[in-house]
Amino acid sequence: MAEHGREGGLDAPTRHPLNQDDPKFWDEADLNKELERVYDICHGCRRCVSLCNAFPTLFDLVDESDTMEVDGVAVADYTKVVDQCYLCDLCYLTKCPYVPPHEWNVDFPHLMLRAKAIKFKKGDTKFRDNIITSTDIVGKLASKPLINSLVNGGNKNSTMRSILDSALGVHQDAKLPEYVRKTARQINAVHIFDPAAGQQNAKVPASKQNAKGGLNKVALFTTCYCNYNEPDIAASIIKILNHNDVTVGLPAKEHCCGMPKLELGDLSTVSKLKELNIPALYDMVQQGYVIMAAVPSCVLMFKQELPLMFPDDERVTAVAKAFHDPFEFLHKLHKAGKLKTDFKKTLGNVSYHVACHQRVQNIGPKTRQILELIEDTSVKNIERCSGHDGTYGVKSETLPFANKIARPIVRQIEQQEPDYYGSDCPVAGKHIENNLETEQDTVHPIDLLRLAYGL
Ligand code: SF4
Ligand code: SF4
Repeated sequence: MAEHGREGGLDAPTRHPLNQDDPKFWDEADLNKELERVYDICHGCRRCVSLCNAFPTLFDLVDESDTMEVDGVAVADYTKVVDQCYLCDLCYLTKCPYVPPHEWNVDFPHLMLRAKAIKFKKGDTKFRDNIITSTDIVGKLASKPLINSLVNGGNKNSTMRSILDSALGVHQDAKLPEYVRKTARQINAVHIFDPAAGQQNAKVPASKQNAKGGLNKVALFTTCYCNYNEPDIAASIIKILNHNDVTVGLPAKEHCCGMPKLELGDLSTVSKLKELNIPALYDMVQQGYVIMAAVPSCVLMFKQELPLMFPDDERVTAVAKAFHDPFEFLHKLHKAGKLKTDFKKTLGNVSYHVACHQRVQNIGPKTRQILELIEDTSVKNIERCSGHDGTYGVKSETLPFANKIARPIVRQIEQQEPDYYGSDCPVAGKHIENNLETEQDTVHPIDLLRLAYGL
């Protein structure tokens, strides 16, 4: 394992583009060779054993094989490891000493993604997975009048849930989000950006929209979750930004960011969604808008995953540069002396789960730093994977693992007995809430900030 007398690389990690346009990317024999090579390195290393269920699955396969080496594992079983990976990126970011530029060139999440993409292309994907990753289509349908009551009622009905479990493979104990009738984009339609006018439709004077250079205009990508399930989060962002003299525009068009489809390996739909989203966002970037989304996975999709898939698309690069986590942006405002601290309410003790897809953005503990500007507020970070990871926390075969992964977080929250708890990832927050014995609800940190401002 030694490289020039030391273990692992000391140079800053770099990420290679995904290379999905290279025919070799889709060559299954080549994939299996690469899986064997990387599995062998992981077997010799085993640092990631506690991160998720992918590594224990791999190590069990090796340890239970005749040779107790990777060569004793049947190639057909390689996919059992792949199926347990939900692309959180934590192994790459927090553990692996062999990531590029190290000569071993281990990028475990990207290898899993390649395996998922080949599996998807072969048609080896369940009907259920195609449905539950179509967040935009499901959301549009479930927010329609009549259908909305049926979906929300059905999700709470034990008979319906039992049918859904056996027929579709959606675990009956998974807490499915409620769908709203009026989406965040409908509620905030006045803010929708008009590319022809070069500004949002809201009656905000152009002078106010164009002042202060770079920190005065935010394009809010609402996300499927906030749009169809929790529009209050989008409302909190708008209220907080307006309170700080930042105007908010919504892109003229918005579709799913593509992260659920990426996690499924459906790269052609990711490409299509990129073509639907990027032009509207790029228009706003051209007008000087910073972009923001309240779900870390969506932010990561635009900041990291799309640029790695489309490194030569200048519009993707421009959008990635403009994309911010909400607290990353608020921290910039604070550093520029433009964030108001006229808080009306203290928050006390807050247990705060740092979502994996926010950790891998490498922006530092910005949520905690902003919340701790509020008087008598102390925030305890919990840096563990919640295990929900999109669809992993709702599928019949993986919900038990997702609950197991959430346990250390749940234990910490129970010990801390906080006044509030929550996660930047609202879906992770709900998954934690579902695993807590108490009746206390999760609150998104942006809602906590709005509460403190009294807005
Ligand atoms: S990307 Fe996340 S889920 Fe996948 S193997 Fe790494 S740590 Fe596990
Ligand atoms: S991904 Fe890297 S750190 Fe994790 S087990 Fe494999 S080689 Fe070790």
